[in-house]
Amino acid sequence: MRPKHKHHDQQPTITATKWCTGCSACVAVCAKRQAITMQPDKKGFFFPKVDAKRCNHCGKCYRKCPSAQLQQGKVQLTPGNLLPMAAEQAQPAFTPHYFALSLKPDYKELYGCTTTGTAFRISYAFIKAGGLVCGCRFNYESAEAEHAIASTVDELKAFCGSKYVQSNKHDVMAQIQEHLRSGRKVLFIGTPCEVAGLKQLLNEQEQALLFTIDLICHGVPDPQSLKLYLKELSSQVGAVHDLNFRAESWVPLILKAQGSEGTFKAESNNTHYFFAFTQNVNLRPSCYHCPYATLTRVGDLSLGDFWGVASLIKDFPYPEAGVSAAIVSTAKGAALINTLQYHTRNVCEVSADVMRATNISLRQPATLVPPVREFYYQELARTQSVVASVNAVIARFGKQA
Ligand SMILES: Cc1cc2nc3c(=O)[nH]c(=O)nc-3n(C[C@H](O)[C@H](O)[C@H](O)COP(=O)(O)OP(=O)(O)OC[C@H]3O[C@@H](n4cnc5c(N)ncnc54)[C@H](O)[C@@H]3O)c2cc1C
Ligand code: SF4
Ligand code: SF4
Ligand code: SF4
Repeated sequence: MRPKHKHHDQQPTITATKWCTGCSACVAVCAKRQAITMQPDKKGFFFPKVDAKRCNHCGKCYRKCPSAQLQQGKVQLTPGNLLPMAAEQAQPAFTPHYFALSLKPDYKELYGCTTTGTAFRISYAFIKAGGLVCGCRFNYESAEAEHAIASTVDELKAFCGSKYVQSNKHDVMAQIQEHLRSGRKVLFIGTPCEVAGLKQLLNEQEQALLFTIDLICHGVPDPQSLKLYLKELSSQVGAVHDLNFRAESWVPLILKAQGSEGTFKAESNNTHYFFAFTQNVNLRPSCYHCPYATLTRVGDLSLGDFWGVASLIKDFPYPEAGVSAAIVSTAKGAALINTLQYHTRNVCEVSADVMRATNISLRQPATLVPPVREFYYQELARTQSVVASVNAVIARFGKQA
């Protein structure tokens, strides 16, 4: 059968630039022919590039691409999956539940976790039960965030803490598929678009052993900005070997970078990197049109911050220690959250409306202001400095860029 799409030499045509999330599922789909590699564009975002000499136009990458399939109306988001449009298949078998929860001990203090360490604690139980966990860690040598597979608790510690940048998936999707085929249970933790890519890649049998946690997601900055920012930090404190975007406390957020010659510490919201991230200056194009910024979640379990807990839940204790928002969308999600049983400090089930109120990322995608974004990248190309580029953005557009 002839494919419905064509690949050009440079541009990804599996799906439009605007929709491609960079999930890297297509690389794994084409693992045998190895026709697809992820290559950075001018702004530093990774997009699939197809080698025309290796491609046999089978069309598999297009048929498995979650973004292309969503755009074509071939699949829809249902609790815990992307399923074909056929109504009987899309019927959710499980009613989602919504929770606010805090944990003991303080995993932020112990391992630099971000909200409560719920992701870490669940991963810990998963490893102890003989499973593998795929999560995101910093690679300080290549100055990037990357996904990797952990089989020990020690390896898990590098996953602690949110890396506010798009991770390099390398070939983890194909590795996960291999592990599942050989009968290993795997827990994947990542952004919803990554979870969607993985689920599209796998058949039903492979999915049976897969568990997923998606993060409530504001968007991801380009890897190039992080690389340049790390270089700038290193010029102040020596080679950075430990970066935490949200260290020490839940509120205020503290950015801490430990270098070979000193430590940089500042309120995250006052740093140039966080300004670009939170003000939507340097997010991936797909993040401004994200189909996953909704209460219907693609993962079995979803985790984020339960912002505004003091006003939304009367008398919820220990809010200062960090409170997670958790959405359980499937029976597997319930099994994951049940492993927290003896480690929760407080748990409170809330309504869908209260959950939606905690977080703008459950209601709408980040807002794009094209001139601000273009100006930032122009300045970044010119100055090779995140600090200078953000200063230039603020000088031209003000702090509410
Ligand atoms: C890019 C990004 C944007 C986010 N936006 C929001 C938001 O708008 N609102 C909200 O409530 N929460 C958001 N979160 C989620 C929040 O920051 C915490 O990750 C979440 O509450 C889990 O906290 P924890 O203490 O349980 O995780 P920890 O125990 O600290 O573990 C962190 C987990 O996150 C995974 N992870 C870290 N960085 C990445 C990455 N770049 N890509 C994929 N996976 C990663 C790790 O594998 C690990 O499993 C975002 C997270 C990321 C990475
Ligand atoms: S599978 Fe993922 S990386 Fe590949 S084209 Fe689709 S969205 Fe982009
Ligand atoms: S059409 Fe087939 S061979 Fe070509 S890149 Fe896509 S999956 Fe690979
Ligand atoms: S905002 Fe959407 S497209 Fe962007 S990283 Fe998050 S889930 Fe993916």
